[in-house]
Amino acid sequence: MSKNKSSESVKVVVRCRPLSRKEESNGPAGGIVQMDLRLGQVILRNPRAPPSEPQKTFTFDAVYDSSSKQRDLYDESVRPLIDSVLAGFNGTIFAYGQTGTGKTYTMQGLWLDPEKQGVIPNAFDHIFTHISRSQSDKQYLVRASYLEIYLEEIRDLLDPNHGNTRGLELRESPETGVYVQDLTSCVCKSIKEIEEVMNVGNQARAVGATDMNEHSSRSHALFLITVECSQPGPDGRKHIRVGRLNLVDLAGSERQAKTGVQGDRLKEAAKINLSLSALGNVISALADGRSSHVPYRDSKLTRLLQDSLGGNAKTVMVATLGPAPQHYDETLTTLRYANRAKNIQNQPRVNEDPKDALLREFQKEIARLRAQLNHRRFRSKQKKEQVDGEAWERDGDEEEEEVEEEEVEKEAEEFVKLEEQRLEKENEAIREDQFLLAEEKQKLLGENEKMMGDLRKRQEATEQLTARYKAMESKLLVGGKNIIDHTNEQQKMLEMKRQEIAEQTRREREMQQQMLIQDEEAVELRETFTSLQQEVEAKTKKLKKLYAKLQCTKAEIKDVNDEHVRSRQELEQTQNELTRELKFKYLIIENFIPPEEKNKIMNRLMFDPDEDEWKFKPLVPDESKSSQMKKRPASAVGYKRPISQYARVALSMGTRSRYRAENIMLLELDMTPPNTSALTDGEQNQSPTLNNSPTNNKGICKSRSW
Ligand code: ADP
Ligand code: MG
Repeated sequence: MSKNKSSESVKVVVRCRPLSRKEESNGPAGGIVQMDLRLGQVILRNPRAPPSEPQKTFTFDAVYDSSSKQRDLYDESVRPLIDSVLAGFNGTIFAYGQTGTGKTYTMQGLWLDPEKQGVIPNAFDHIFTHISRSQSDKQYLVRASYLEIYLEEIRDLLDPNHGNTRGLELRESPETGVYVQDLTSCVCKSIKEIEEVMNVGNQARAVGATDMNEHSSRSHALFLITVECSQPGPDGRKHIRVGRLNLVDLAGSERQAKTGVQGDRLKEAAKINLSLSALGNVISALADGRSSHVPYRDSKLTRLLQDSLGGNAKTVMVATLGPAPQHYDETLTTLRYANRAKNIQNQPRVNEDPKDALLREFQKEIARLRAQLNHRRFRSKQKKEQVDGEAWERDGDEEEEEVEEEEVEKEAEEFVKLEEQRLEKENEAIREDQFLLAEEKQKLLGENEKMMGDLRKRQEATEQLTARYKAMESKLLVGGKNIIDHTNEQQKMLEMKRQEIAEQTRREREMQQQMLIQDEEAVELRETFTSLQQEVEAKTKKLKKLYAKLQCTKAEIKDVNDEHVRSRQELEQTQNELTRELKFKYLIIENFIPPEEKNKIMNRLMFDPDEDEWKFKPLVPDESKSSQMKKRPASAVGYKRPISQYARVALSMGTRSRYRAENIMLLELDMTPPNTSALTDGEQNQSPTLNNSPTNNKGICKSRSW
């Protein structure tokens, strides 16, 4: 039951893929998952348990078995969410499950086969078809971003340099909540363009990974679409609604093997599923309803999707299962996880006129460019009419707006052409004029040439402005205009019928589920017993039913306990390994690093919670940097070192003082080239070539100083 009027719970649907060929060849055991599509129930059989053990049953908003089509899931469970996004709500779709159970198949599917396209391509289709069919007073702006979270780092998949740069940062603003700083976002004008964006991102994802399967099972992929829609309200002003859609393909939910890994790889293993376990903790805390603290800040994923879980968003979670018996444990964990998520309450509301709407900025910029352009054209037109000898009679600016733009443009072009022709004619006339002097002719021709140049420059500037204006305007999609709707009426009807059927199936299922609950409660109340025997029979039957339920619950408790023990053991193991590593590091520090160095380092270290890392404080605090650095004393200006008053006076008097700024010894540079040949007579004879040098005799003495 909803807590208040505007709150609604997270929709959880479960999908089971068919047995793969490999799994089929493994044995005739068949699948362990049974589904009741009408009731929305999943029945799980434990392949290791004795047949007498009761099977586990879970109920969800909808379930899809191996024969379900992509389209079924979309029409029933996703379409309403996308409709809400188009109406200005935030929406999120998660795909959660073990690797290989069909998360990517559900989200993306097989692009080339229209029957097997997943949620994302269907959503593209839905959004752009909706825009093409909406009224023409609506303006839309659609943007897309694509990112992945790998080892707690956010990577922008649309940035060609994403591999080289450091991960992006999360920021928080009071208006928009948590967002990724500097994330690329592409304006998309058609299905083709947004598909291209998706392709670019998918390729970037594959390039960074050595093994795509391994990589995708360890990273979360988020495709974000923002749809802004402006529509004149009853007050005559344009109102903007912003819907944000997060399409999330989560990392594989299987337990990462932590045993036997050490050092960096251990840390990596601990980080891989950090986001996912944090997501689990957030879901638990929210589903519990009693805990006051929801640990959103524990991971990047949970921070980014804060609104989708317990916040301002409508959320659908698709939990994917595999039917193979060997994955029983993982399948059960997934079902429990999904079952918990059902209890989360969100408070979705329409995002009306948010401050950061890009559409408003675009509209302003377009209006500005349009005004500039109109001004230019207006001037050209005015000139043309002056040239034509007509008086300018127009007065209303508004009327000017109304004038067909193309017409104005044509007129402006015509004016330029006419001007050119006129100047050309004038040139001819000047050349042919025999009364003019050659000099004068040249001057007049030059003037005309300049005017022609000016005209062309103006024309070019106008063309550039027009191009910018058109590029800007084309980014905005106008309802029912930009995209030609090729579907005929019959197809539209068919689509509508399909939606109706999907809606009806959903309602039917809800009713069935409610009936089942009510039946159980009411059966006893309605019974009247005619005899004691009958009463005993009825009560025994009920007792049996309740006993079975009790057994189920007991088994469930045991399972949950076992799981807790298992995860506790795993955590203890991780802790042991980390402690061992810590001891190793201590050993090195205690024995090989001098205590004073250690203290120095310890005093400078501080923890940065944003980046989850220890950092060194800067040696010199930033603000006092300049004051701490010693300034050169004023007396030293122009000198190499400080100098006393006495020495300065002495210097100006020409006295060679000991306290000069310059060196104490004055060594004049000896320009004579080195000559070792004249040191002794004997050596002289040994180098006859040098004997002939002109500096021979002079250099002897000086060269001794070398
Ligand atoms: P995940 O992304 O969860 O690791 P994938 O989406 O890659 O799993 O699916 C694994 C394989 O199973 C793929 O070959 C996919 O085509 C197939 N598959 C998954 N779900 C279905 C389904 N509902 N119907 C048919 N094939 C499926
Ligand atoms: Mg995948």
